[in-house]
Amino acid sequence: MQTSVVVFTCDLRLSDHPPLRAALHGGGRVVPLFVRDPAVDAAGFAAPNRLAFLADCLRDLDAQLRERGGRLVLREGDTVTEACRVAAEADADEVHMSSDVSAFAHHRERRLRLALEAEGRRLYVHDTVSTVVVPGAVTPASSDHFAVFTPYYRRWSAQGLRDAFDAPSALTVPTEVGSAPLPERAAVSGVSPGLCAGGESEGRRRLTAWLRSGLAAYEERHDDLAGDATSRLSPHLHFGTVSPVEVVHRARRAGGAGAEAFVRQIAWRDFHRQVLAARPDATARDYRTRADRWRSGKDAEADAEAWREGRTGYPIVDAAMRQLRHEGWMHNRGRLLAASFLAKTLYVDWRLGARHFLDLLVDGDVANNQLNWQWVAGTGTDTRPNRVLSPVAQGKRYDPDGAYVRRWVAELADVKAADVHEPWKRPARERASTGYPEPVVALAEGLERFRRARGRA
Ligand code: FAD
Repeated sequence: MQTSVVVFTCDLRLSDHPPLRAALHGGGRVVPLFVRDPAVDAAGFAAPNRLAFLADCLRDLDAQLRERGGRLVLREGDTVTEACRVAAEADADEVHMSSDVSAFAHHRERRLRLALEAEGRRLYVHDTVSTVVVPGAVTPASSDHFAVFTPYYRRWSAQGLRDAFDAPSALTVPTEVGSAPLPERAAVSGVSPGLCAGGESEGRRRLTAWLRSGLAAYEERHDDLAGDATSRLSPHLHFGTVSPVEVVHRARRAGGAGAEAFVRQIAWRDFHRQVLAARPDATARDYRTRADRWRSGKDAEADAEAWREGRTGYPIVDAAMRQLRHEGWMHNRGRLLAASFLAKTLYVDWRLGARHFLDLLVDGDVANNQLNWQWVAGTGTDTRPNRVLSPVAQGKRYDPDGAYVRRWVAELADVKAADVHEPWKRPARERASTGYPEPVVALAEGLERFRRARGRA
């Protein structure tokens, strides 16, 4: 009987899982394997919130497999060594996994292929597990990737989608292959108190609820900070507990303007992946240099620290930064405002901000995080690289009655709506009594500094 190994990475689900489907095709045995690899931690990809979410995902995956007569095999160590070892223990002919775009993933895939081939086994790498459209499948005439979203989206939308596959109903895992104990969320320290739950069961529940009651109003409400009217599927898409292909199929079936706007956001995810696939160094280097000489030294560090702590004196930025710390997640409009404030108003290197986001975000993802940071900093794919978002104007627009600020900034909980985005306008005595900080920099000063730095003064 044929035996295959399926190496799970950022695809922690049984539904719509092409590698698992291929492994089960001949009706043989399969070893569902996840390797906890210290190299992932060393590369800076691990963070308490993501480790806690991962623990939920692995436990749920194991439970789902057990319901079907199988179980998850967990190993710790180098992915290549462990996958080869498990393949040898199970006497497997084939190993299946999904493709990924980072330099780290490419290197891992190459090493695994060579190591398996040396032992007479084959590696099969499957596309459209973590993306809807394969990175590089659509390209402009003159380049290996799209650098502008709108033309990419046009081509992306015209691509035919494969069907979404059901989860297998049963599988057989060889008994001779042992597993390390599964991690527990409670054993991870430093986790945000409001972190959401992980796992495919939770991801599917959230997706179904979202399609039923959130999607239709997405277009009008997605920027309403206090309304919290986005899908919150990002951690599930990051860990692959929901399938992006299935999400797009189901959203399109639901139809309407909300579905269209939502699917467009999923295309942004693929857009960043195709940029990263073509330019793997964009995780750390400017995609388009603007010859920035970012501020450094004590003052810049103090400003960056105030930003990390949510104490810049700009309520909408501070609310967003405090949401990040409390939940390990932040609303997209908050991410835009917080990132613009650091990289442009404070003129601090986007890499510092991206690092802090990666340390806390449960959906923290090198493609989406680094390339969105670059987009906001004006070193990426934004066609208007020098625009600066005003936290006051944006606060008034996207949090008009201040409910989002009051939710996250306790010092301003009793401030009336008219003052909530400009608390410095209140009388001095009132300001002193709340303990909320004065602005780290005047907006006009920050703007002038940025324009000078970019040669636009
Ligand atoms: P929804 O509005 O419901 O959108 C649905 C899905 O579309 C999201 O789950 C996400 O997968 C995708 N999406 C939405 N907006 C974007 C976008 N701008 N770029 C790429 N994909 C998008 N997203 C991450 O998944 N991981 C990150 O590390 C990350 N870092 C970011 C850093 C900055 C500075 C900025 C401005 C944005 C970042 N984003 C990141 C994108 C976006 O903010 C989040 O995906 C979104 O807020 C997640 O909430 P949601 O699932 O409710 O999104």
